[in-house]
Amino acid sequence: MICHKIISTYDKKLLKRETENFFNKLKLNIRNEKVLLKPNLISPKKYANTHPVVVESVAEFLKDCGNSLFIGDSPGVGTSKLNMKVSGYSGFLKRLDVKLYPFNKTVRIKRHENKVLKNFNISTPAVEFDNIINIAKLKTHVMTGMTLSVKNLFGFIAGKEKVYYHLKAGHDLKIFADILIDIYETVCPTLNIIDGITGMEGNGPTSGTSANFNIFAASANGYLLDRTIEKAVGFKGKTIISKQAEKRGLLQSDIENTISENIKIKHAKTMSASFYIPKFITSLFSVKPVINNKLCRKCNKCKNSCPTQAIFYESGNLKVDYSKCIKCYCCHELCIYNAVDLKRKIFYIT
Ligand code: SF4
Ligand code: SF4
Repeated sequence: MICHKIISTYDKKLLKRETENFFNKLKLNIRNEKVLLKPNLISPKKYANTHPVVVESVAEFLKDCGNSLFIGDSPGVGTSKLNMKVSGYSGFLKRLDVKLYPFNKTVRIKRHENKVLKNFNISTPAVEFDNIINIAKLKTHVMTGMTLSVKNLFGFIAGKEKVYYHLKAGHDLKIFADILIDIYETVCPTLNIIDGITGMEGNGPTSGTSANFNIFAASANGYLLDRTIEKAVGFKGKTIISKQAEKRGLLQSDIENTISENIKIKHAKTMSASFYIPKFITSLFSVKPVINNKLCRKCNKCKNSCPTQAIFYESGNLKVDYSKCIKCYCCHELCIYNAVDLKRKIFYIT
């Protein structure tokens, strides 16, 4: 079941009331428990992160129910502490006594039921909390089409270990989607909430532009929630995550008939091939990262994080070796100076 509300402002009273409505409709009663909040804290660019008033509203509701609250993430850039600070979380975290939980310690787990990650490291909160509230941001994503609740849990892979999973998937987006689904199945959040009041379109997840989608939504079923939202924002076809979830029997194909066509929100613009351009045309194009050396501050974040070591210096400038590049777009996602452009080139000549 999906709950949603069309909301155009970050009004705390309204969001708290809707959070309570969501919990009641979904028959979730969490009282006097230890609860982990997992927002999207991807970067020190505050507009890329879950809005503080959404997290505050959810936290305040759960606090009123007598719960002890913790919060955390393992972002690609910055630290969760820094990203929360620049995003305006500090005041309410203190007021509501929400404690920062470390995501840098990992535990090795075996899950034979997973498709790709059968024996892997995951941040300890994934196994230490029975109640995890996944609070994602609605954003387009140059690699996976959209980032919603399933993709948000990639933050349970600690720090640079994320690079290993990009490398493991290589050019195969299906494998990457299956990795994300394995993580979702392992973490198994109690509830997924999407902050789509202001989201991101264009070159998401960090370099796009803010867009008002005016939607606040929740479900215990992240696949269904994500499929509903991607349809509402005009994604043509299905994202790779929804396709793989359907193949694995986690998203029923007949669910399409029950997804509400009545959620009327703004359609998102994106670099992703799947939105507006017919597939037979997009198959001729490829999006490649290009370093804008005028904007580049030579911090080497992209170079050090590239899973295939495709970024190198030539005459003092950074360049990409396209024969090595697997188009994971980590460089684009990690650069806080917007110095990694994404350019669509016909036939991807390297
Ligand atoms: S492109 Fe961005 S991340 Fe890479 S070195 Fe330059 S400023 Fe740093
Ligand atoms: S150059 Fe960028 S897109 Fe290519 S593999 Fe490296 S990090 Fe990924």
